[in-house]
Amino acid sequence: MRRSSGAVRAFYAGMQGVSSRIVDSLPELGGQLTALYPEKYIFDVGGLPKILAEDLARDLVEQAMQFERTLVIAGGEGCLRAPRAERAWL
Ligand SMILES: Cc1cc2nc3c(=O)[nH]c(=O)nc-3n(C[C@H](O)[C@H](O)[C@H](O)COP(=O)(O)OP(=O)(O)OC[C@H]3O[C@@H](n4cnc5c(N)ncnc54)[C@H](O)[C@@H]3O)c2cc1C
Repeated sequence: MRRSSGAVRAFYAGMQGVSSRIVDSLPELGGQLTALYPEKYIFDVGGLPKILAEDLARDLVEQAMQFERTLVIAGGEGCLRAPRAERAWL
């Protein structure tokens, strides 16, 4: 799959009972889907005739977050280096 690999990988890790972490410098998860073209329709997702990019991102993140041991570290420029990152066990 080409899009939103963080959320997709976290979902499949959760399905296998493996914990995962998503680290993103942006405050909102979703990558290009939410940052670049949230209002664009996506037509090439199996089972979905069309879906807005922001809705797809929301659903992918929700799907990934259903597992207890998915850790999200998101928010703030350079979050890998700065202590400002917001951390939450979901
Ligand atoms: C206009 C446009 C239309 C598109 N339409 C489609 C389409 O219809 N169908 C399709 O399959 N693909 C489409 N794509 C391609 C698709 O958007 C990308 O392939 C997909 O977003 C890649 O997902 P990703 O999760 O690997 O990377 P990204 O979506 O780029 O996410 C990477 C994330 O990593 C974060 N990040 C980067 N560096 C760091 C760092 N050092 N520390 C912390 N966080 C970091 C970024 O903030 C970002 O949120 C389109 C792309 C564009 C630009």
